[in-house]
Amino acid sequence: MLIVQKYGGTSVGNVERIDAVAARVIESKKAGHDLVVVVSAMSGETNKLLEFAGFFSQTPNHREVDMLLSSGERVTSALLAIALEAKGYPAVSMSGRRAGIVTDTIHTKARIEYIDTTEMKKTLDEGKIIVVAGFQGVSDNGEVTTLGRGGSDLSAVAVAGALEADLCEIYTDVDGVYTTDPRIEPKAKKLDKISYEEMLELASLGAKVLQSRSVELAKKLNVNLVTRSSFNHHEGTLITKEENIMEQPLVSGIALDKNQARVTLRGVTDKPGIAAEIFQKLADCNVNVDMIIQNVGYDGTTNLGFTVPQNELEVTKQAMSELKASEIMQYDSDIVKVSVVGVGMKSHSGVACKAFSTMAKEGINIEMISTSEIKISMVIQAKYGELAVRALHSAYQLDK
Ligand code: ADP
Ligand code: ASP
Ligand code: MG
Repeated sequence: MLIVQKYGGTSVGNVERIDAVAARVIESKKAGHDLVVVVSAMSGETNKLLEFAGFFSQTPNHREVDMLLSSGERVTSALLAIALEAKGYPAVSMSGRRAGIVTDTIHTKARIEYIDTTEMKKTLDEGKIIVVAGFQGVSDNGEVTTLGRGGSDLSAVAVAGALEADLCEIYTDVDGVYTTDPRIEPKAKKLDKISYEEMLELASLGAKVLQSRSVELAKKLNVNLVTRSSFNHHEGTLITKEENIMEQPLVSGIALDKNQARVTLRGVTDKPGIAAEIFQKLADCNVNVDMIIQNVGYDGTTNLGFTVPQNELEVTKQAMSELKASEIMQYDSDIVKVSVVGVGMKSHSGVACKAFSTMAKEGINIEMISTSEIKISMVIQAKYGELAVRALHSAYQLDK
C-alpha cells in the first residue's frame, strides 16, 4: 500500500517526539508500505514566528510572512529525515516546492492548483521514505506560499489525492474526532466514523482536529481519511461517505469557534447594490465573511451584521472605513460561535428549539443565529463559550 501519514505540531514538538515519529514511520515501512510523511512545524513554532513579525508590524507583508512561516515545517521535515536515516532507513525531505505543490498567489492562504508528482514518484521508486514539509507550496510565479492555519492537513490530503494513495492518516494529539473538543468536555465520546459532510461542518465551525479545506478536498478526491493519535495505537476515526454509516445520529457533534469577530453596520442605505458593494470590497481583500444578517429596512436604512475571522478584523476595519458603508460601525472580538452539527437534523424537527432552550436555561443570550440543513450556529458572548458547549453536549445526550 501507499500510505500518506501526517504528524501535527505536538507529535513533532521536540526531538524526542520526532524520534518516536521516526519509529512509528518505520513500523509502517517494515509492514511493507510505501510512505510519504507530511509534517507540521513543532507546536507553538508558527505562533512564535508570527509574534516576531508582529513586533515590527500589525499588518506585515504577506509574502514575507510566508517566507517566515514556511521555515517551521522545513525544520521538522529535515529533522525527521535525519532521524530516519540514523535508524537505517533512507529518507528524503522535500519543501513544498520540491514536492511539486503548486498554488495560486494568495499569500498566507493559497489554494493548491495542482501537484507535479514527478519528483515524489521517482523518490518512491528508489524505495526511499519522503518527508514533505506541510503547510506550503510554490506559486506559479515561483514564490513560497502557505496554505492557511492548520494547512499541513491539506498538504497531506492533496498529496494523497495526487499520488492516489490507499490511505491518508492524520496523526495528532487526541485519539480521533470526538463529539466535541475533549479538552472542553471530558465526557466527549470518540466517533468511529463520521461523514465528510459532518466533518466539514465541524471543521469549518471551529473543530481544529482537521482543517476544513482538507476535508473538502478529501471528499472531492475520495481520499480514505483517518485521524488517530501518534501517542498510542488506538483505532482512530474514519471520515467517509454518508452511505457507509449505518445509523445516523440526530446530532453528531458540537463545535466552538473562538476565532470570530462581529462587525455591525448601522444606518446602511437600503437600496439595491449596497450589500454587493460592501461584500465585494471584502472579497477584494480576501476576507472570509461568515454569518451575514440584514434586518428589515426602516426609514430608508437598514442594519447589517456579519462575522469575520479575528485575524482579518484589521483589514475589514480598513475596508469599511474606505467604503464609508455606514455612519455607525461597531466591531466586537469578544464573541464566539457555538454550533450543533448532525445530518440527522435534515429529517427531524425540534433540533433548533432544543439548542435555543438550552441557551435560555443557562441564561445565555443568543446574539446571532444561522442555520443550514445540517447545522445550527449561534453567536454568544465569549465568556459563555465553553459552558454552552458542555450544556449542548449534555442536552443532545452526546455523553451517553
Ligand atoms: P495538530 O497539531 O496535530 O494538527 P491540532 O491542535 O490542530 O493538532 O488539532 C487537534 C486538537 O483539536 C485537539 O487537541 C483538540 O483539542 C482539538 N479539537 C477540537 N474539536 C475536536 C473534536 N471534535 N474532536 C477532537 N479534537 C478536537
Ligand atoms: N504550522 C501551521 C500552523 O500552525 C500548519 C499546521 O500545523 O498544520 O497553522
Ligand atoms: Mg492541526
